[in-house]
Amino acid sequence: MVAAKRELSRLLIFGPPGAGKGTQAEYIAAQLRIPAISTGEMLRAAVAEGNELGQMVDSIMAKGALVDDGTMAGVVRARLVKEDARDGFLLDGYPRTRGQAETLATILQEQDIALDAVIYLDVPEDVLVDRVLARGRADDQEEVIRERIKVYERKTKPVLDFYRGDDLILSVDGNQGIDEVRQSIDALLGEST
Ligand code: ADP
Repeated sequence: MVAAKRELSRLLIFGPPGAGKGTQAEYIAAQLRIPAISTGEMLRAAVAEGNELGQMVDSIMAKGALVDDGTMAGVVRARLVKEDARDGFLLDGYPRTRGQAETLATILQEQDIALDAVIYLDVPEDVLVDRVLARGRADDQEEVIRERIKVYERKTKPVLDFYRGDDLILSVDGNQGIDEVRQSIDALLGEST
């Protein structure tokens, strides 16, 4: 098969807490027929199950802090080597630190694959708190949200720089309704495929 166009099958969705990553990730993954892999969902499932990982991360998540990079490396590596991720995936919530970005690069290199794009959902900080409060998850109390946004600004947003050099970032205005964001993403994916 001759692939004349840029294929989008290995993607990240990136943005602050409350940007709508999870919602759009499900949509994009369905469109591209790839699994949406949310580290937040995986950790919440572990907490609900009460397994060793869940017991370790429960209080960390509850206060809006980040789970350590070593633990996350294990979680992500185990997930990305599964059969359903072999031909593509959309990662949501990882990487969240520079170290995680480096780990991801290593995992991908080991499999001789590379990222095709980073979808960046850009949302101004002042609308995030209200959005997250409307959602009402266990870690969605106002103080915890403010902490998560602070952690995002300090540790996660700089991760974008890691991907700038390779020209991987596709920016989307996330400060619109769900359908409008979806349409913007459609337009972007259409343009780059
Ligand atoms: P949000 O949609 O608000 O960004 P997530 O569902 O992605 O939230 O993550 C919820 C929580 O899970 C985070 O606040 C953090 O405690 C933990 N978590 C998820 N992914 C990671 C990660 N890659 N590194 C460290 N902690 C993580």
